[in-house]
Amino acid sequence: MANKSLAERDQDLIWHPYTQMQNAPLPIPIVRGEGIFLIAEDGKKYIDAISSWWVNIHGHAHPYIAKKVSEQLSTLEHVIFAGFTHPGAIELAERLISILPASQQKVFYSDNGSTAVEVALKMCFQYWSNQGKEKPKVLAFNNSYHGDTFGAMAVSARSAFTKPFEKLLFEVEFLDLPDSNNLNKLKSQISASASEVSAFIFEPLVQGAGGMQMYEAEYLDELIKHCKNNGILTIADEVMTGFGRTGKLFASDHLSEKADLMCFSKGLTGGTMALGVTTCTSIIYEAFLSDNKLKTLFHGHSFTANPIACAAALASMDILLESETLKNIQRITASHQVFNKRISMHPKVKCIRQTGTILALEWETSGETSYFNNLRDNLYNFFLGHGIILRPLGNIIYIMPPYCITNEQLDYIYKKIEEALERF
Ligand SMILES: *Cc1c(COP(=O)(O)O)cnc(C)c1O
Repeated sequence: MANKSLAERDQDLIWHPYTQMQNAPLPIPIVRGEGIFLIAEDGKKYIDAISSWWVNIHGHAHPYIAKKVSEQLSTLEHVIFAGFTHPGAIELAERLISILPASQQKVFYSDNGSTAVEVALKMCFQYWSNQGKEKPKVLAFNNSYHGDTFGAMAVSARSAFTKPFEKLLFEVEFLDLPDSNNLNKLKSQISASASEVSAFIFEPLVQGAGGMQMYEAEYLDELIKHCKNNGILTIADEVMTGFGRTGKLFASDHLSEKADLMCFSKGLTGGTMALGVTTCTSIIYEAFLSDNKLKTLFHGHSFTANPIACAAALASMDILLESETLKNIQRITASHQVFNKRISMHPKVKCIRQTGTILALEWETSGETSYFNNLRDNLYNFFLGHGIILRPLGNIIYIMPPYCITNEQLDYIYKKIEEALERF
């Protein structure tokens, strides 16, 4: 073992996510994080332009979050959350409710984005079954992504990723993203199956894993309103869009219609700890109140509302709500807009789109444009070579940086993208 490198020791034993292990290059061992940078074993520094899979919003090893987490660690590391509670979970619930849309009144904790979605789905199905109604279906968007556990996978678009499990996924009716042309068609589609549909789940404004597809708040508003009029609950999956990503604290803040349930994770703890939150209206909560024990929401995870994760989330919220952070979000948004204008007419740019701090650029390709083509690997390696972590989704590259990124660092990334456009 002594003469093996970290990467080789990893390769001996570890199976990585979303990785074909047969031909995967050796993973890069990261030994330290510092603000926007991840620092490798060999001393090489990488700009984390994708916030470590979209979770990190304030930079790595943030001293304030580290201090709060460390204080919590030596006070209370964990406690069972059935029959017990703790100050961090209570304060986090209070502070979340104070910044969420007014419709959200109850907080259920879990420990990641997929479980936050599972909980929302179970709340919706059981909301109806507690009232003696059977509504076995869910509505979701084509191209959606809501997580990798079975329920979350079922409401995600069918794709190469879900193929081996297709027969095991429950029935979901998929809708196209709304625009001015198809809105009426979508409404009829919803009305036609409404009696069987428990809930409509969506990623508001930006579909993340589906390739950073973006759509307008006004059309989503129409669909939410239509669902409400047809007895369908609505779930805003803000696991990716939450906590400033879209330029406002939540993507739902761009909407006038508010969802019945919301899901959070990723940026919730500033990317420090795994934590999931599902919030809902009091109407949903009250449908589970009964002398009949069978109407209970029978769901919970060992690490529900972990106190260290709650401490990280509270610290992250302190930083998020500072005026400097809010200004940074606007600064990144404005900087992306300028780059967008500059590059949009480039012949290799098939499409460039932006919502808040998220910028996505679709490469013009001659041949296959799937997740699996070579362009993706070439781009990934090109940026890594220049000390930038950008992880393309097929022919789509996107920037989703921690809010502490400087203008100089953004300009460096833009410059390298322009170089890549000349090269690939
Ligand atoms: C990442 C993501 C999830 C799943 O979260 P995990 O913590 O990875 O399980 C769910 N919904 C959306 C919109 C996501 O982007």
